[in-house]
Amino acid sequence: IIKFEHVNKKFGKNDVISDLNFSINKGEFVTVLGSSGSGKTTTLRMINGLEVPTVGDVIVNGNNVKSCNLVDLRRHIGYVVQSIGLFPHMTIAQNIAVTPNLLKWDKAKITNTIKSLLNLVGLKPEEYQNRYPVQLSGGQQQRVGVARALSTNPPIMLFDEPFSALDAITRQKLQHELKDLHKKLNDKTFFFVTHDINEALFLGDRVMVMNHGKIEQLDTPKNIVSKPATDYIKQLLSTVN
Ligand code: ATP
Repeated sequence: IIKFEHVNKKFGKNDVISDLNFSINKGEFVTVLGSSGSGKTTTLRMINGLEVPTVGDVIVNGNNVKSCNLVDLRRHIGYVVQSIGLFPHMTIAQNIAVTPNLLKWDKAKITNTIKSLLNLVGLKPEEYQNRYPVQLSGGQQQRVGVARALSTNPPIMLFDEPFSALDAITRQKLQHELKDLHKKLNDKTFFFVTHDINEALFLGDRVMVMNHGKIEQLDTPKNIVSKPATDYIKQLLSTVN
């Protein structure tokens, strides 16, 4: 469902991504692990067309991102970031309904979608839908961020360090919830960027380890642990708890 073919990305004279080649299958949960500046976010943003490869092709759902309609593309890709970005002047329900409203869905369909999405992320609709973002904790806001990204039922979900601003306990709770959510939402593809190796190994069906804009290993957590391909990965593994 996602394919990178000989992708390079430069910012000015700097090579940020060099010759990236990989495929992700429909329904997979892939985590992307690497230290700061390794190119994880840039890779993720090339999937929804927020960054354009300098060389090479990114194919999503059979379409080349370079030449497809980006509005259509993004309707099929949910995007969750660390800063959440809920609109502060809108209620939780209004925040989730932003895209459905733009698409002019009928009222009943929007109301039902809000309810079922809030239930899906573990927030009681009657308790939360009329609150404003400031009236929610960081973890609850992040759940709403996930619900909002799911509003159009996209086959692909991109997550860019969504839990990194949360305390350790909330973070662990949300990791479990997200893993369960992925199972529940049969066949959705999750692409999840993190610099936390424990999170990457716990969540991913496969883990893509990046270093200096290249993939060092793309493999199951089990194989990463038992057969690390490089010294960098061995070093990362020495920090596993
Ligand atoms: P982090 O974990 O810190 O978010 P990352 O692995 O996601 O890091 P990227 O954000 O993809 O890394 O950045 C990779 C490199 O590209 C960095 O050296 C960064 O400074 C550079 N970079 C990213 N975006 C731009 C930009 N718009 N203009 C210039 N350089 C950029």
